[in-house]
Amino acid sequence: MKTVLMPREAAFYDRAKKAYFNMRSRFAEKRNKKGRVIQVGRPLPFTQTEFMEWLLSQFGGDSNSVVKCRYCPRMISGMDFQVEHVDPVKQGGSLALENLELVDEECNRFKGNLTESAFAMLKEFLRRLQDEQLLADAAEIEQRLKISGSAHSMRKRLMMLSAKPKPAAPPVMEYQHKLEEQF
Ligand SMILES: [Zn+2]
Repeated sequence: MKTVLMPREAAFYDRAKKAYFNMRSRFAEKRNKKGRVIQVGRPLPFTQTEFMEWLLSQFGGDSNSVVKCRYCPRMISGMDFQVEHVDPVKQGGSLALENLELVDEECNRFKGNLTESAFAMLKEFLRRLQDEQLLADAAEIEQRLKISGSAHSMRKRLMMLSAKPKPAAPPVMEYQHKLEEQF
């Protein structure tokens, strides 16, 4: 017998599934057009079911509830969470569930491959600019960092797509969303 899910619950599981497969694809083996390995594959150390259980536990077992972002006061729900590696994988961080955390989209993009303490220093730096009334500078720096962060992930995504035949890239704004839909 098939379990009937409420629309919101179904959307949560749908998003969770995409998050899992995006992660799996991010660490999968990548080859260039000539077939040479450009990224050694690393299997995720947990199954989809284990990921789902972990995710649900982050929301206290209720996919309708909200939790606070690890890095800022924003609240995140089962509809808009992002999964992030606290210790960046690029800096040797683990792929395990213990290294995952739920954050909002902006913190996820802004933190990028920074460690948690470097990210805290960056935010502190921006706060100090604001305290010094250098508001325009603070906003400008934040903006530049965000742009470069998203440009970086764009490049990575384009590289990933060029490794195998895929349709042409959709416009930048909807890029991530579109990419998720492919899985
Ligand atoms: Zn946040």
